[in-house]
Amino acid sequence: MQNERKFYINGAWVDPRGGTDLDVINPSTEDVCATISLGGEADTNAAVAAAKAAFDGWSQTSKDERLALMEKILEVYMRRSDEMGETISREMGAPADMSKTAQSGSGSGHIKAFLRALKHFEFERDLRENTPNDRIIYEPIGVCGLITPWNWPMNQIALKVMPALATGCTMVLKPSELSPLSGILFADIIHEAGVPAGVFNMINGDGPGVGTQLSGHPDVDMISFTGSTRAGIAISKNAADTLKRVSLELGGKGANIVFADAGEKAVKQGAARCFNNTGQSCNAPTRMLVERSRYDEAVQQAKEQADATVVDLASKEGRHIGPLVSQMQFDKVQNLIDKGIKEGARLVAGGLGRPEGLNRGYFVRPTVFADCNNDMTVMREEIFGPVLSMMPFDSEEEAIRIANDTDYGLTNYVQTTDGEKANRVARRLRSGMVDMNGQARSSGSPFGGYKQSGNGREGGEWGMEEFLEVKAIGGWFADAP
Ligand code: NAD
Repeated sequence: MQNERKFYINGAWVDPRGGTDLDVINPSTEDVCATISLGGEADTNAAVAAAKAAFDGWSQTSKDERLALMEKILEVYMRRSDEMGETISREMGAPADMSKTAQSGSGSGHIKAFLRALKHFEFERDLRENTPNDRIIYEPIGVCGLITPWNWPMNQIALKVMPALATGCTMVLKPSELSPLSGILFADIIHEAGVPAGVFNMINGDGPGVGTQLSGHPDVDMISFTGSTRAGIAISKNAADTLKRVSLELGGKGANIVFADAGEKAVKQGAARCFNNTGQSCNAPTRMLVERSRYDEAVQQAKEQADATVVDLASKEGRHIGPLVSQMQFDKVQNLIDKGIKEGARLVAGGLGRPEGLNRGYFVRPTVFADCNNDMTVMREEIFGPVLSMMPFDSEEEAIRIANDTDYGLTNYVQTTDGEKANRVARRLRSGMVDMNGQARSSGSPFGGYKQSGNGREGGEWGMEEFLEVKAIGGWFADAP
């Protein structure tokens, strides 16, 4: 791959001004698959200065100009979509087929969704019907620092870059240092599409370096961050001195409430969803709460699903799951499985160590714990691995209480064929999203969490509003243009 040691600043690929090298590890083989540069302060300053200089011009462009450019980005992205899938697979371990469809496709899906959202977005309107001299104008907030994780790299990058572009903001993207190659390819797509110099800039770096420099930078007006709650707290504190806006998408510990009258496939589908992307999704349904009359059968079905989940190299085609992203994540997940066993959860599938036949790579066994209680570490901590924790409940009230008894509040899940009960429970769950009976939310639906899952919303008009200031004007000349 070209440009992997370079940064994209002010419309050109440039050599780093400072910083160090970092090897990117293929998590299936543990081999080095690329070497990137981690930027230093001089790189961050140069990227922010370019974004600042470009803001005046870009913020004045018309909606039609921005729509045309986003259409062009989509066109180039679609042409290079398979290349994107291969790149993501290599750097973070998503299996080849899944990476080309779900991983790469999440990027194009969001580009399309933001094209739709921008078409319908009104940047100017009257305050109310009978207030012709009160004008409300939505304006871009300014220079945005976009900090993204490795688990769904293009999903996160598109969810931030596209609304920033759509609203007239300029930006500096810092992809995860564990998945930088897809970020470099994305910058190349942006360049090929002809985005004006300085509007989009990309530098690689780590959290203590470029991440911290961006969140504390006086010329950055907003940070949009997706990743761990730990980093979200650090960013919020560091951003406080400059009072910049901070939009956070953090971890989750989703409950999946399975009532006795749930559809036949609810348990197996719930377990499969937990194991998808090797459990590395913030919205994964990792706590399965099952009504007692169906509990024993559900534990058996979840075990069958785990045992049937094939783990293999990311480079192989097929419907298996790949490795975890890094040695650090491997150690963390092993440690949490060990804790589950030591704290007395009943291990019914998987467990410690690699799956049979895989001696290299950060592979873990799809694991199911039964008979958990909500105080156990495996029920409270975000594991970010293919580990499902199950416990029974006796009443609707108890299920809601357990589901809400968590620091997180991202996505919860409800499985029942009783429509009234489903809607009643969905209203009571303290989370930004509720998915019921396996039905996906439509594109443009806001993604975000309550409590320690963050404070932002991504996608659709809500995702655009995150990047906008609201200006209220009195004495507006209603008859003037
Ligand atoms: P992380 O939060 O450390 O890294 C995510 C991004 O933030 C990366 O780009 C990283 O360089 C940057 N970053 C880290 N510390 C920073 C700081 N102090 N200031 C500015 N930027 C900073 O996540 P991780 O270490 O890669 O993963 C650890 C855990 O985070 C996972 O086990 C998982 O629980 C959680 N996670 C959640 C999501 C999500 O989508 N909610 C995504 C990735 C990781």
